[in-house]
Amino acid sequence: MNEPAPMFDPDLWDLTPEQVELASLCRRLGASRFRPRAAMFDREARFPEENYADLREHGLLGICIPKRYGGLGADFKTYMLAAAEIGRFCGSTALTFNMHVCSCLWTGELADSLEMTREQRRRHERRRARHYARILEEGAIYAQPFSEGGAAAAGTVPFATTARRRDGGWVVNGRKIFASLAGSADYYGVLCTQVGEDGTLKRRDTLYLAVPKDAPGFTVTGEWDPLGMRATVSRDLVFREVFVPEELELMPPGTYYQAAVRWPHMFLTLTPTYLGLAQAAYDFTVAYLRGELPGMPPVKRRMYATKQLAVAEMRLRLEQTKALWFQAISEARVDPPKEAVLRAWAAQHAVMEGANDIARLAVRTCGGQAILKRFELERIYRDSRCGSLMLPWTAELCLDRLGRACLYEEGERDEED
Ligand SMILES: Cc1cc2nc3c(=O)[nH]c(=O)nc-3n(C[C@H](O)[C@H](O)[C@H](O)COP(=O)(O)OP(=O)(O)OC[C@H]3O[C@@H](n4cnc5c(N)ncnc54)[C@H](O)[C@@H]3O)c2cc1C
Repeated sequence: MNEPAPMFDPDLWDLTPEQVELASLCRRLGASRFRPRAAMFDREARFPEENYADLREHGLLGICIPKRYGGLGADFKTYMLAAAEIGRFCGSTALTFNMHVCSCLWTGELADSLEMTREQRRRHERRRARHYARILEEGAIYAQPFSEGGAAAAGTVPFATTARRRDGGWVVNGRKIFASLAGSADYYGVLCTQVGEDGTLKRRDTLYLAVPKDAPGFTVTGEWDPLGMRATVSRDLVFREVFVPEELELMPPGTYYQAAVRWPHMFLTLTPTYLGLAQAAYDFTVAYLRGELPGMPPVKRRMYATKQLAVAEMRLRLEQTKALWFQAISEARVDPPKEAVLRAWAAQHAVMEGANDIARLAVRTCGGQAILKRFELERIYRDSRCGSLMLPWTAELCLDRLGRACLYEEGERDEED
């Protein structure tokens, strides 16, 4: 297939020059480098190191590092548009890239809009300058271990992974599950709870620490042989008395909690991967039915009414999802109004469920030959199934929150409660 058209036409969607430039760069890299390698990484369930070499070479590891630190300075929306173009060609690369980029977005644009004392701000400036230098000068990549298998990742209880104060730093103990980039990251941006003086754990005491891959007491465990997103290599992590110097604090204590409450769109960053997969399923179907898929005899199937109806259904779903998503990412900001938060949940649900629905329709209408492993549709189908499982905004939890928020205003209760 030739290089595809942009997912969001620059004129029609009124993109800024920066958005056009970064989305085009990601699309070019995706089509020329990531797409040809995607089947191999998927088959071997191997982390896409070669893709990361390309991302590094093009400065994309620093996509959300502010320009004054030497990065590309993309804001939230620009990053989301660029990342969707990667998701079209390799879901696992886009998803793992997101884990890395969060370490820059949270410490950069988000942290700048949150409250800190003057002293915290000063320290944060110094520490993030080092953090960004590790990425830009040493080529470091960051994982984002958050999930633990309990209710913490859903945001209802504190993380069970703990950090205790020790001279000059923190001692971390705990376990994380499903840590994408496990064994390949240079640093693990661990979310953990600072143990209070009385031994209690509180959500507002969440810490965000960078654990180096070779820290004593840190190990990667477990196997990784899942249905989809196989190249994310999301194995488990164990922390046993791991000492983390305070210089590796990625944000001041309490700032992550503040971000989770005041910058809820931060959790929307898992969606571009899956929006890209939805676009890929649609593009595949159009090429297949037009008889233009490389590796297939040029047999056209587009003249059948059933195929046209199926593609119409896919296009409807894709258009609805893209429009809602674009509006939601345009509304991201600190302290968004309730309307915008509801729309963000709706967009998350629409993308995560929609991607797999579109892929399902693609399989049904393209037929048996299209599910052969030598074509990308069967991988897209498997990868797209994983989006709804991503905490804290799983498809179930989005519905749960949306339904409640539609019917209740802040603080409202029913008499029988
Ligand atoms: C490919 C892939 C890559 C991933 N990469 C990462 C990563 O890099 N870092 C990371 O931290 N995590 C990662 N995850 C983990 C992901 O975010 C989830 O934490 C994980 O899939 C949850 O596992 P579970 O469904 O067994 O969780 P469970 O906690 O058993 O949740 C099951 C479902 O129950 C519902 N549920 C959970 N808690 C509540 C609640 N309190 N109230 C109501 N309903 C609830 C949710 O809908 C949830 O989907 C990844 C997952 C996948 C599939």
